[in-house]
Amino acid sequence: MFIYSDSNKRYHTYNYFLKQKFGCKVAKLSLDAGFSCPNLDGTKGYGGCTYCSGRGSGDFAGDPRDSLREQMEQQRTVMEKKWPNCRFIAYFQAHSNTHGSLERMRNCFESVLDQEGLVGISIATRADCLDEEKADYLAQLAQRTFVEVELGLQSIFDVTGERINRCHTYEEFLQGYRLLKERDIPVCIHLIDGLPGETREMMLESARQVGQLHPHSVKIHLLHVIEGTVMAQQWRRGDFPLLEREDYVSILCDQLELLPPEVVIQRITGDGDKATLLGPLWSMDKKKVMNAIDMEMARRDSYQGKRL
Ligand code: SF4
Repeated sequence: MFIYSDSNKRYHTYNYFLKQKFGCKVAKLSLDAGFSCPNLDGTKGYGGCTYCSGRGSGDFAGDPRDSLREQMEQQRTVMEKKWPNCRFIAYFQAHSNTHGSLERMRNCFESVLDQEGLVGISIATRADCLDEEKADYLAQLAQRTFVEVELGLQSIFDVTGERINRCHTYEEFLQGYRLLKERDIPVCIHLIDGLPGETREMMLESARQVGQLHPHSVKIHLLHVIEGTVMAQQWRRGDFPLLEREDYVSILCDQLELLPPEVVIQRITGDGDKATLLGPLWSMDKKKVMNAIDMEMARRDSYQGKRL
């Protein structure tokens, strides 16, 4: 059996990590604190990443017109029906949640700390929205509660970054990542498989190099083409193909084999908004994709980190 698993999973799931750390089921409450993004507001660019729906990865986050406490309360009720007695991580998900003043960050993050059942906070942002002062603050906050920071990278290749209008380089990502790593703040790095122009080898190389950074965790998303985005226009023009399920499963299993076993795998698919998802439509059957990954790892008699 894989060392970081108490089930049939052959990779280090986030559920397993949370259960080991907190001794119970922990659910993430997705929040929209009203931050923006440097790639939308003109600080770095306008229009955003070509796949961005306008809310970053926050399509499932709460409504920013509601207070953070209201957003938490609404989602908490839903989670508690599913998992009575579960505890919570406040997930600042929409946009770039360190793109603003330190004071604003402090007001947002600290306003939820006294919520019942809260065991930590998770902060999604871009590496180019961090500096020494913000990293010092996050390190102080981590003395008071569990803190993890999610950094979008998507690909280590600058040519891809330019193609998707990411508006930061891999080197800039590394600078922000190091600010957190030096302070022992757990970092979750996001990658996307299936980006335009990327070959299988490029996706594997991104996983390999991310593994060498030894982040706390990784999220691997499948590229989703969402209605209304620049990428939707490119895809309709036939500029790039979408991954087939078999290819995605095979690439994903290769990537798991290249990631160190200690690295927690927070996600290995994507959750597209069904109402606006143009493709790949097979990804809507998430259970089937997850099962196919488990079956392929078992067929290979493989596990996370096998090819290190
Ligand atoms: S960094 Fe995130 S929020 Fe900003 S444009 Fe890209 S996907 Fe959207």
